[in-house]
Amino acid sequence: MQDKIGVFICTGYGIGEALDIDALSKVAAEEYNVEFCKTVDSCEGPGLQSMNEDIKNEGLTKVVVAGISPRCYPDSAFPEEVIVEKIGLREHVVWSQPAGEEDTQMLAEDYLRMYLTKVQKMEPLEPFQPEETIDKGLLVLGGGITGMTAALEAAKAGYDVRLVEQTEKLGGWLAKQHKSIPTKPPYRELEDTGVDALIAEIEGNPRIKVYTSATTGEIAGAPGLFDVTVKSTGNGKAAGETVDTFRVGAIVQATGWRPKEPRNILGYGEIEDVVRNVDLEEMVKNKGRITRPSDGGDVKSIAFIQCGGTRDKEHHSYCSSICCLTSLKQAMYLREQDDDAKAYIFYEFIRTPGQYEDFYRRVQEDPGVFLTKGEVVSVDRGDGRLVVTVKDTMLGKQIQVQVDLVVLATGMTPNSADGEAIRALEDARVIMENGESEAQRKEAAEKVEQLKRHEGTAILNLAYRQGPDLPALEYGFPDSHFICFPYESRRTGIYPAGCMRQPMDGLGSRDDATGAALKAIQCVEMTSRGEAVHPRAGDKSYPDFFLQRCTQCKRCTEECPFGVLNEDEKGTPLLWATRCRRCGTCMGSCPERIISFKDYSVDMVASMIKAVNVPDEFEEKPRILAFLCENDAFPALDLVGQHRLQYSPFVRVIPVRCLGSFNAVWVTEALSAGYDGVLLIGCKYGDDYQCHFIKGSELADYRGDNVREKLEQMAMENERVELHQLQISEYEKLPEIFNKFVDLIEEIGMNPFKGM
Ligand code: SF4
Ligand code: SF4
Repeated sequence: MQDKIGVFICTGYGIGEALDIDALSKVAAEEYNVEFCKTVDSCEGPGLQSMNEDIKNEGLTKVVVAGISPRCYPDSAFPEEVIVEKIGLREHVVWSQPAGEEDTQMLAEDYLRMYLTKVQKMEPLEPFQPEETIDKGLLVLGGGITGMTAALEAAKAGYDVRLVEQTEKLGGWLAKQHKSIPTKPPYRELEDTGVDALIAEIEGNPRIKVYTSATTGEIAGAPGLFDVTVKSTGNGKAAGETVDTFRVGAIVQATGWRPKEPRNILGYGEIEDVVRNVDLEEMVKNKGRITRPSDGGDVKSIAFIQCGGTRDKEHHSYCSSICCLTSLKQAMYLREQDDDAKAYIFYEFIRTPGQYEDFYRRVQEDPGVFLTKGEVVSVDRGDGRLVVTVKDTMLGKQIQVQVDLVVLATGMTPNSADGEAIRALEDARVIMENGESEAQRKEAAEKVEQLKRHEGTAILNLAYRQGPDLPALEYGFPDSHFICFPYESRRTGIYPAGCMRQPMDGLGSRDDATGAALKAIQCVEMTSRGEAVHPRAGDKSYPDFFLQRCTQCKRCTEECPFGVLNEDEKGTPLLWATRCRRCGTCMGSCPERIISFKDYSVDMVASMIKAVNVPDEFEEKPRILAFLCENDAFPALDLVGQHRLQYSPFVRVIPVRCLGSFNAVWVTEALSAGYDGVLLIGCKYGDDYQCHFIKGSELADYRGDNVREKLEQMAMENERVELHQLQISEYEKLPEIFNKFVDLIEEIGMNPFKGM
């Protein structure tokens, strides 16, 4: 079908008064031969309705609307089958430039040229549909409270679930508990764990198939098409290993935690009566009583030591969230066992968030429980009992207490963490801070940086080019966008939940499990419609690789943040489209420029760059090209307009899906076209990155070396290209970045290639 392009120019919101609308229409009609160009007095309500009527009546296939910011339209504003590009004349021109000026008019006209050029090159989207049917079943790994809850929630929502548990029985840590902390008002009494009822519910649910004593041999494929091999020695039937293979659509990883092993701490490992909180729990659960491990004798007093090997630089630095509540609970076990017994809880901070504070108060009321702030400096075997020495107490002096048992409130390490790597990290941290020489400290700091890139352990066994497990942060918790997408991982369709995601209590684990199950369901449903999941949820584009020109350089396979691309034996990328988040990082990485989307490509952006009328004059009117990330910097530009902040009219903005999709060739294109400088503005990177696609700005920075090389080849100053990191909340900085850069360009002079 022949394309029919139409243009709507909105004259509302002050646009009609600030710009010469006839001149703008002429750009469409005379430069782009657009036959249908119409003004509307609003982009909303009746204005939007009239545009849609015209689109239908005129049979328009591609449309440019110059009016309000693209971000101000609802998703359903225009028919899905029509390609629509929107120019924010209101926010990006009229609200940020003086009305009626020549430069303001030039800016508006250039945007119209850029977007008319872009729509000419865009093609209708065809959602990705694999040849095989998308499977909507789920795999849940881990049969603890999180895994069981996720499985039940998904099954109740109508999805088939395979639940794989490594040990012989379902239940995880919940099954090892004697009692649970209170979960409901008035938060005073300990509760039954409810684990048996939960297991019975799982076993009675026909949608859930349980594998015990089982591990994943391999997970290959992609969302909707995951082929899973499970090796099992369980299910109590035939002896020996059984192997089952099946397909699922998405995965919840709830592989839980293990206790942090205390190292060099307070007699643990040397004195038998110094135990961990998990050991005490197991003792009560199995024996029904607390006794001394050394001789089985009665226990009349316990010292609970909070943060026992946690929350400091020598151990893991994070709070495991549940240890304080566990000690309070275990103090109650002792008091219930013996009215005369005494429980001492030594802490630096007691953390009982939310309504658990009521439980804390209830334990405080007990005259046999002594909560004392202070630092435990030693535990020694005394005359038959243990002597606990505590300094910096609120009494301002050192005290000693004799007890029968010491319980360390040890924290959680996710099972996805490599223990050796964590120990090496902790050791390096100590040397980094306390090393004797500068050189030692520096070497340790470098080691810390390396060790922070945690490789994870082989739990999932993914057949992915980028490795077998979820990429993890320094302590083995899966890497995710911690602000916007806490449930996500860097492997599409795999959702971490519970204490393998972050330390949490039982209630938190249940909530987390429900969230992860919903994310997994969302994933299979969106994948079956050929749509991207977050953060470009609903996007139907996907990258197309023109592999005839691929040089097997492997940049795309290495740089894709989500492990989407596998490789054949020669190194040619193999796209698993349903893993793709549509960030365009591969497009930015490819030196051959052979990766494109139907609505976003290197060529499309290059054509937009060239569509701008760059004045030939060397004395004035420079032209700056600014690539703004669509997630933060581009929305920040809307805020700049909304706050009527003014900036140089010489800047032409192109939004990009992520700075990771920025292809270095665009700089060459811009400088060859006569632009005087190029700005790249993306999200914050580093340990606390804010990039929705993990490392966009970082990659743009790294690719900056290519850019600098190109600048040198062209005998141009490096200063002509600048990279900035910006959060949406820092929108006031944008005009400053633009204006300072224009000043800098004026200082170093215009592009010598201008007009050539
Ligand atoms: S880099 Fe982004 S667009 Fe490219 S394959 Fe990976 S997820 Fe998809
Ligand atoms: S970056 Fe481009 S040339 Fe290199 S392997 Fe990927 S598709 Fe091929």
